[in-house]
Amino acid sequence: MSFVKITLHANKTEAVRRFHPWVFSGAIKNISGEPNEGDVVEVTDEKGNFLGLGHYAKGSIAVRIFSFANEKNVEQIFIQKIEAAIALRKQIGLWQNNITNAFRLIHGEGDDLPGLIVDVYGNTAVLQAHSKGMFQQRELIAQAIKKASAGVIENVYSKSDSALKHKEKTDGLLLGNSVCEEISEYKLLFKVDIPTGQKTGFFIDQRENRRLLARYAENKKVLNTFCYTGGFSVYAAKTGAALIHSVDSSAKATQLTNENMVLNECANYETFTADVFDFMNKQAANNFYDIIVLDPPAFAKNHNARHQAIQAYKRLNMVALQKIAKGGLIFTFSCSQAVSQEMFEGAVTAASIETGRKSKIIHRLMQPPDHPVNIFHPEGEYLKGLVLTVQ
Ligand code: SAH
Repeated sequence: MSFVKITLHANKTEAVRRFHPWVFSGAIKNISGEPNEGDVVEVTDEKGNFLGLGHYAKGSIAVRIFSFANEKNVEQIFIQKIEAAIALRKQIGLWQNNITNAFRLIHGEGDDLPGLIVDVYGNTAVLQAHSKGMFQQRELIAQAIKKASAGVIENVYSKSDSALKHKEKTDGLLLGNSVCEEISEYKLLFKVDIPTGQKTGFFIDQRENRRLLARYAENKKVLNTFCYTGGFSVYAAKTGAALIHSVDSSAKATQLTNENMVLNECANYETFTADVFDFMNKQAANNFYDIIVLDPPAFAKNHNARHQAIQAYKRLNMVALQKIAKGGLIFTFSCSQAVSQEMFEGAVTAASIETGRKSKIIHRLMQPPDHPVNIFHPEGEYLKGLVLTVQ
């Protein structure tokens, strides 16, 4: 198979040789044809030496490389990458156990497949393309997932329309005839709504942090803000929390939270459909909660929105610091890729200064091992969190 060749300037090959998967448009010296958005292209140096195979895009990131090996059979490449991703999930104990059956199988650059997210829910894989190239190859990828999974994955659902912001309506099953509707995470049960839920259906990335919360929640008064499916709330309830308040502005989310609380036979809870800031300012008493979870949506969607996002994190953490009881814990998160751990900690520090509450960091948290960060692509680290003990 031959592909359009993209030749890089002599002084612009270093990053690619160090396995950074992005080629910026400014690094390109010559294009041998007229590739369309999403086409597979071959990247070479000025002497014509092979550097990588990737998907072409007409933006500042011109190529996203998915293979640095001189192998041209795209289907074979996908099968190999998916097999490698399965091997990693086996190594970290997530493949086929009877405790947890929801996990990320492909985390984009972290699994050497830039632009592709695949989450597994029981027998269903949900494929989310973030690039046209991956989107165009969804059928091939679905087949490769099924083949590499050796019978574990029966259904593959494509859910890329919102991520790609295109007008076509393409979300739906690529393989199989049903989707998983209930998953188990550390033996707790959760309803997932793959077709219409947020992201691919569930916030898999908070699994280990929810479990950490369970270590502290017994007999405690817990406030779970931005609760979505009530993940943190269920863990708190099953550990014997004295009271759990869950808050989300979406009625669908609070309904899901209540369903999951019932499903797990939880007690002592109340769920509120409200804006978190309104709820905290109007309905929550000062120094009341023993544990507060702050897990907002990404406040910064890009680098330009960073400053505002940091202000928002500061405001949110300030309100939590007012509402937390003496000696209480705040689990505070940012899932904005554009906000670094340092910046996030800066915002939390500023909130502590302004409220005059003395706090100490007892845990620094990140995304779990099924969301690996490619060392050559540190941009892949997006979820960061702190657990503070507040005086
Ligand atoms: N903690 C959740 C995931 C949170 S996702 C989990 O573990 O699964 C973020 C949630 O915040 C969404 O459900 C969204 O509806 C909600 N949200 C966004 N802005 C909000 C606001 N201002 N007030 C309340 N909820 C909000």
